[in-house]
Amino acid sequence: MRKTLFGIVVLILLAGFPAREATAQQPLDGMIERELAALVATYKLLHAAPELSHYEEKTSAFVAKELKTLGYTVTERIGKYDRPEWVGYGVAGVLKNGEGPIVLVRADMDALPVEEKTGLPYASKVRVKNDAGQEVGVMHACGHDVHITTLLGTAKMLVQLRDQWRGTLVLVGQPAEETIDGAKAMLNDGLYGKIPKPDYAIALHDHGEIEAGKVGYTSGFALASSTSVDIIVRGIGGHGSTPQVAKDPVVVAAQIVLALQTIISRETSPLDPAVVTVGSIHGGTKRNIIPEEVNLQLTVRAYKEEVRRKLIASIERIAKGTALAAGIPAELSPLVKVSETEITPATYNDPALTERLSNVFTRALGAENVVKWPQIMGSEDFGRFGLEGQQIPTALFWVGAADPSKVEESKRTGKPLAGAHSPLFAPLPEPTIKTGVKAMTSAVLELMKRQS
Ligand SMILES: [Zn+2]
Ligand SMILES: [Zn+2]
Repeated sequence: MRKTLFGIVVLILLAGFPAREATAQQPLDGMIERELAALVATYKLLHAAPELSHYEEKTSAFVAKELKTLGYTVTERIGKYDRPEWVGYGVAGVLKNGEGPIVLVRADMDALPVEEKTGLPYASKVRVKNDAGQEVGVMHACGHDVHITTLLGTAKMLVQLRDQWRGTLVLVGQPAEETIDGAKAMLNDGLYGKIPKPDYAIALHDHGEIEAGKVGYTSGFALASSTSVDIIVRGIGGHGSTPQVAKDPVVVAAQIVLALQTIISRETSPLDPAVVTVGSIHGGTKRNIIPEEVNLQLTVRAYKEEVRRKLIASIERIAKGTALAAGIPAELSPLVKVSETEITPATYNDPALTERLSNVFTRALGAENVVKWPQIMGSEDFGRFGLEGQQIPTALFWVGAADPSKVEESKRTGKPLAGAHSPLFAPLPEPTIKTGVKAMTSAVLELMKRQS
């Protein structure tokens, strides 16, 4: 009798585990489905009303209002920039739910100075004056409106599912990701004194090449560090017809631009990815005048800090050495300035955390909808939430935003898809948001699951 009862209990327990796993997903699907129309409406509103980096006033107020309505304790206006005229529009919503881990989820909120050309009914028509006084179109061309919508959807799901997790959930709306100074501004303003310091920080970013309905992950280095470097090449001006009495900075700048490319091909290990791009070159006013200076603007990308430092040292050496070889006097040696603000470390996805997340995505979305994605040389400032030396494990994953039929067509024709920062970037709203909310909610539930 006792033996039979024991057998029955074991059977019930064994049968119960997979059943609980399966039913835990089904209510989430239904819950997201019920919210989807409202979330897509929110997305379209946000898409039509983008705000540039450092000016996310209305977007952050909207995020704050929504989180407050859901019962989160909200702190607004977090962020201190080097330029005092910029207001820090960071938002954080905290939901305490007993003893357990502290998990931070971040969504960035800013848009880009891009004139939208998608022709969508909810396309942005916003035009503003930028900091330089030029009128520019504004567009959520990087899909940060997807991120905000997903954050709000996740916020709602986790309120409804609060009996399934324990701990403190921190949802962050971050300003100024595109200018890579927003996360830094929030931390400089004492973010981890205003909200509990997290045990984990996670984020998602939409991806224009991954089909909507899928997610992608990268373990270890996922995005590169970015460093802005300016070079002022100085010379001795004169008449264009008498180069012998001048020192032409245009020719020296041209030599520098080409020589810089040998840093990657000849000085760094082929196994250490790195990029040096001269994105802007300006000098001179007229055909027959040799100018006094030429300005170069560079972006430098790398994963490892020692590689980044070596790149910068090489840039300086090549700039100065080339000028010296051209006979530019020492007092007019090129000025090489490494920006202290336009700089962000590499995004390193903690391997153990990434493995946990990829496993939970496989369970939630099916193995066919979870793809291992290669690392890229683009940059993000999300890694800063992990603090210097990756003190807090962080992971950023990709959420597919592309129309699957367009991905198919692109593979067939070889024509690239319109990705992030393109005026034609158009995430497919329903499946992208649904998958984003499901993946992020499942990720948080995994990290905060109730220990019974
Ligand atoms: Zn972007
Ligand atoms: Zn982005």
